[in-house]
Amino acid sequence: MTRTLFDQQLHVIQGDITRLRVDAIVNAANHSLMGGGGVDGAIHRAAGPNLKKACRELRETDWPDGLPDGEVALTDGFELPARYVIHTVGPVHAKTKDKSHLLAGCYRNAMRLAAEKGCESLAFPAISTGVYGYPFEEAAEVVLDVMRDRLPHHEALTVTLCFFSEEDVSAFLAVAERAGAVD
Ligand code: ADP
Repeated sequence: MTRTLFDQQLHVIQGDITRLRVDAIVNAANHSLMGGGGVDGAIHRAAGPNLKKACRELRETDWPDGLPDGEVALTDGFELPARYVIHTVGPVHAKTKDKSHLLAGCYRNAMRLAAEKGCESLAFPAISTGVYGYPFEEAAEVVLDVMRDRLPHHEALTVTLCFFSEEDVSAFLAVAERAGAVD
């Protein structure tokens, strides 16, 4: 079931992001861009070996020191149903340091890049909330703030938040309801 927010410009679903037929999906990558576990591994497996090749080229040409937290880099989707993959690096959560601006940067920069490439549909996984340890509800508040702020600037763009579990969908919607953001 899809829940919509912000005048239907934001969709919240449970699913496997590698299956989505959208213009671009976002990858919660790591600095190396060379693939890893979690959603990164799933995207690399589904996109096929050409994705790793494209990422290696990006490293060599644009990001020799690796992709910094909050930045974005674009590749094709290769064997994915999505046309593009926007790779971003979420922050590793730290109790003593507020990294919400870096997490917000992932979402904001991916939306900007998608719009620049003429995308009308963009899907995000729950960046940083897996092995990078960002508390889910804190991340949800960051995402809602960015969506409220940036969606009006990208009127042609529909964003899907693709959560891997129903628990994450419910947890996100609870935060959204508290924030008065559900349609
Ligand atoms: P990070 O390192 O940024 O924390 P992870 O890949 O560990 O990234 O986790 C991010 C989120 O992606 C987690 O909520 C995880 O359950 C989810 N996830 C893993 N595989 C998929 C997938 N195929 N589609 C959508 N979400 C996924």
